[in-house]
Formats: sequence, structure tokens, C-alpha cells
Amino acid sequence: MATAIITGASQGIGACIAVRLAKDGYNIAINHFPSDSDLANAENVAQQCRDLGVEAELFPANVADYAQCENMTKAVKERFGTIDALVNNAGITKDGLMVRMPEEQYDAVIAVNQKSVFHMLKLVGAVMMRQRHGRIVSLASVAGLYGNPGQINYAASKAAIIGMTKTAAKELGARNVTVNAVAPGFIKTPMTDALTEEQRSHMLELVAMKRYAQPEEVASVVSFLCSDDASYVTGQTIEISGGLMI
Ligand code: NAP
Repeated sequence: MATAIITGASQGIGACIAVRLAKDGYNIAINHFPSDSDLANAENVAQQCRDLGVEAELFPANVADYAQCENMTKAVKERFGTIDALVNNAGITKDGLMVRMPEEQYDAVIAVNQKSVFHMLKLVGAVMMRQRHGRIVSLASVAGLYGNPGQINYAASKAAIIGMTKTAAKELGARNVTVNAVAPGFIKTPMTDALTEEQRSHMLELVAMKRYAQPEEVASVVSFLCSDDASYVTGQTIEISGGLMI
């Protein structure tokens, strides 16, 4: 049976992707940040996957740390034998206006959102090259496509993911490994629950469909990109924004 690893899968979009890929028949490796609250949430997600008849296990690691990603990749390979799909989902925001943003606030977001993707592309990409097959999907954002005031760090990290996706697609394509990204707009999760009412209504004005998305609507696109149906799709960034900026 094929195996998928999803980073930051203890809640929000990552948890939803884990359950969706379990429904698709993947065994699930659930990465979560090594904290007690994430452990409890991740165990809950793992149980939902097991209830769907697949195997699911937790792999705690801070994906901003290369050594932890290396240990995790080895552990997943040992436990499941293959790694057939990788979803780079873990991400954070630390918003603030550019002219007032301390350097550490910029670096923290780059480390979790961007550097982690390099770690996982490098480590899992090597496994998939040897296997001669694999599916990789990374979570970018509309902020990386269009920019967003107060998110210079986040927009930089997500724009980088789009370039990294195209580069990795070119390096891995001949080995039958596809590498794509999705760029969600406004999705209802704990990350966006933190926004003010004013920020929410401003976003909705720009959305053609006049509603936020549910995490399941991101998971279904990731599911497609991880499926055999997407065998000739690579290097792409698919926007899931209900028609933002059209
Ligand atoms: P979320 O609810 O905050 O979930 C993010 C997950 O990543 C959390 O479980 C978090 O754990 C984990 N994480 C953070 N830092 C980590 C680290 N260093 N190592 C391992 N795990 C870590 O966010 P979400 O809304 O589901 O977002 C998921 C992805 O979609 C992110 O990449 C985000 O940028 C992207 N996205 C979201 C939206 C949206 O509207 N929600 C839009 C565009 C793109 P902790 O709880 O411990 O921090």
C-alpha cells in the first residue's frame, strides 16, 4: 500500500489532507510539531485515518530543523517501506508591517514555511528518485502570488515555494516524480480564525464566490495531484481561492 507523509497535520488543512488521503487508500505518516497539544490533536487525526482502514502513525518533528526532518524521513521509510506522496503543509504567520518588522520575525517565518520545504524536498525527493515514482504537493498561498500588506515574511516564503516547486519538478521529472503546489485563498482554519472581522470582510469583497473555503476544498485538489489522474501534471501552482483577483 502507498504511503503519504503530511507535515503539520495535527489540525487545519493538514489534518483534513491526512484524512482525505487516507480515504484515497494511502497509509498516513502524520508529522506534527513536538508539543503536547499537537500530540493529542495528531493522535485524533491518526485515529480518523485508521477508522478508514489504513495504517497511520505519528512522526513528531520541527520541520524547520534539518536533522529532525532527516530522522523523520528515515523513520517513515523504515516503518512503511516507501514514501509515495509528500505534502508540505506546515506553516505559520507572524504578521506585521514591513517597516516595523524585526529581523527575527522575518527569519522565523522563512525557517518554518520555506526552509522546511527545502529540507523535505531534498530528503524525500532522494527517496522518490530511487523509487522512480512519487507525488509532492506544497502549500503556497495567494499571498505568494499577489502579495499582502502585513505579510512580507509570509508572502516571501510562499512565493519561494512556487519557484522551488518548478525547480524540483525539473530536477525530478525524469524519475517519474511530480512536484506541484496549491495556492489557497481564504480557508476556514485556526490560522484564519485569528484575523480581525475587518480583515475578513475586506478579503471577501475580492472573492468572486463571496464565501470562505472549507479545508476539504483544498484537500480535494491535493488528493487529485497525488492521484494517478494527475500523472502528467508537474511544476504547477493551482489557485484555490474562489476566484480572487479574476
Ligand atoms: P494551521 O491551522 O495553523 O495549521 C498549521 C499546522 O502546521 C499546525 O498544526 C502547526 O502546529 C504546524 N506547524 C507549524 N510550525 C511547525 C513546525 N515547525 N514543524 C511542524 N509543524 C509545524 O494552518 P492552516 O490554515 O491549516 O494552514 C496550513 C497550510 O496552508 C500553511 O502552510 C498555510 O500557510 C497554508 N495556507 C493557509 C490558508 C488559510 O486560509 N488557512 C491560506 C493559504 C495558505 P502548531 O499548531 O504547533 O503551530
